[in-house]
Amino acid sequence: MRTKIVAGNWKMNKTFSEAENLISDIAEALDDMELNNTEVILCPPFVYLEMATDIAEESKFGVGAQNMNDHEFGAFTGEISASMLNSIEVKYVIIGHSERRQHYQENNELLAGKVNTAIHHQIQPIFCCGEKLADREEGIYFETVKKQLDDTVFQLPSEHFQKVIIAYEPVWAIGTGVNATPEQAQEMHRYIRDRIAEKYDPQVAENTTILYGGSCNSKNAGVLFMQPDVDGGLIGGSSLKADEFIAIVSSL
Ligand code: PEP
Repeated sequence: MRTKIVAGNWKMNKTFSEAENLISDIAEALDDMELNNTEVILCPPFVYLEMATDIAEESKFGVGAQNMNDHEFGAFTGEISASMLNSIEVKYVIIGHSERRQHYQENNELLAGKVNTAIHHQIQPIFCCGEKLADREEGIYFETVKKQLDDTVFQLPSEHFQKVIIAYEPVWAIGTGVNATPEQAQEMHRYIRDRIAEKYDPQVAENTTILYGGSCNSKNAGVLFMQPDVDGGLIGGSSLKADEFIAIVSSL
């Protein structure tokens, strides 16, 4: 049975004390919950990762980074490597978020390198894919997502691909308050799972966790997560308040 996941992408938010309070509140709430086959992952900004992994040691959540560099080490001022993340017990990393594709010109070639480097350092990539509004309006959303997968995670051998978590995040739904309908999410998740079966095999496809992201909140999470191929969510804005985030986890 594939693992269900709710991951919070905090983006560039929170001061140190706010971050510490939010993590502690979430940890405390999770203590009282039964998480059957469900993982909760928090992805705060880099500077709070070590504090998060310290709290996570005694708690029921894992810690992910929001980005990393594709190189092993060296003269890359301001960057963070996979071995640095690994050395502070970070187990996941978001790769290919649309904000990084848009604001930092991250292309499929670079993202393929990042995915590869993460896996070689025992860090599980949460790989984001998703079409822009224009792609959806032109009816080329399947092709767009297929190319994003073909050029990146589908370059991996099967044993490495099996470490990847996919997040389908239609760009038009991120931070807009307009979520994909459950039918739109299910249609794309099924499409992605079928492509995985075609590229690898049906068992690998069946075992791959595919998250939905894009204006997911405590009100719409239940119906989105009910879809057979939606295995949880990558949550942006709604992961910044403990009550709201915990309500989303409870919807799984
Ligand atoms: C995200 O940034 O990954 C995301 C899904 O954002 P939001 O939930 O705010 O739309």
